[in-house]
Amino acid sequence: MAIEMEDKYGAHNYHPLPVVLSKGEGAYVWDVEGKQYFDFLSAYSAVNQGHCHPRIVGALVDQARTLTLTSRAFYNDALGPYEKYITEYFGYDKVLPMNTGAEADETAIKLCRRWGYDVKGIPENEAKIIVCENNFHGRTTTIISMSTDPEAKGGFGPYTPGFIIIPYNDIPALEKALEDPNVAGFLVEPIQGEAGVYVPDEGYLKKSYDLCKAKNVLFIADEVQTGIARTGKMLACDHEGVRPDVLILGKALSGGVFPVSAVLADDEIMLTIKPGQHGSTFGGNPIAARVAVTALQVVKDENLEERAERLGEIFRQKMREIDSDMIETVRGKGLLNAIIIKPKNGKEAWDVCVKMAENGLLAKPTHQHIIRFAPPLVISEGQIYDAVEIIRDSIKFFDEA
Ligand code: PLP
Repeated sequence: MAIEMEDKYGAHNYHPLPVVLSKGEGAYVWDVEGKQYFDFLSAYSAVNQGHCHPRIVGALVDQARTLTLTSRAFYNDALGPYEKYITEYFGYDKVLPMNTGAEADETAIKLCRRWGYDVKGIPENEAKIIVCENNFHGRTTTIISMSTDPEAKGGFGPYTPGFIIIPYNDIPALEKALEDPNVAGFLVEPIQGEAGVYVPDEGYLKKSYDLCKAKNVLFIADEVQTGIARTGKMLACDHEGVRPDVLILGKALSGGVFPVSAVLADDEIMLTIKPGQHGSTFGGNPIAARVAVTALQVVKDENLEERAERLGEIFRQKMREIDSDMIETVRGKGLLNAIIIKPKNGKEAWDVCVKMAENGLLAKPTHQHIIRFAPPLVISEGQIYDAVEIIRDSIKFFDEA
């Protein structure tokens, strides 16, 4: 019923697994028939703190009863405390609040260009931003202009100019691209999530950062998917001691209960944008502000960084112990992991995901042969073992078929 309705009345811009969910708690979700599943997608890493976290939902409900939206035409009493909290939390002078990840990326692009003109002195309309092949930064027209995925980009031109696309995890390519004096920024995912959890070589982020500094170029990290403890540190850049000049956050910034995104930077960069030059009706609304503070507190109070690091090690080890020639690779960091499936007898990653759903675990293929595994970080060690059993049985089903 729900599936037919979505099919009939909704645009066909997604291809969901045939599961209709109606409830969530912690690492579990339930479908309309009451069947329980492990959620190993976590809404693309938005639900790091677990489904319906009582403290985060409490903040949402509390604030929703009091004041929901003022717009930024006026001050509200929740935004300032949130801005103080998040800037101290991540160590930046300022935050610019938005709603979705794509909006935050758009904001970072505008900010970078403006800094390029006002501070670096790039001639008007000449600023360029270096991005990586197979990137994923969202779905807006400018963002797809820098995409190399034909599905995301094809047929939506004309495209926004001003991007230099280089291979990911390729320091010489970055060095060469940085020779252009009109480059204002390098926008990079510390791990390419949507591309299939590509973890770059150790030292890539630090070397990239140092090269950017040497050329007076902003190092911009899109941590929308990798941030907020997902990879075993608060930010994936923390693994290499890199502090991005511009930090982009979204998804788990609200624990998945509300669209909240943010761009963080220091004054020299952030104050190049003046009143009237950027904004959003909902950005920085009181609900978002209260929810984000609580969601960030929960990450600290529940040691989610440490959990992701420790349970991620266990998960990858257990996954590597599965004896199946359908698993080509297991890779990832913290609790952002993926396997590459080698098709067998015509059965692919999609079939494995359907079988896992039957067996009580939800995950989704990204591209054709990759399955991402990213459970809520509140998952317990015992639940990780149970989940690996389900994954093993589901893959073995095709192995032995
Ligand atoms: N940036 C990265 C790295 C992402 O993974 C995503 C979404 O998957 C986005 C940006 C876009 O976020 P949103 O879907 O909230 O616009």
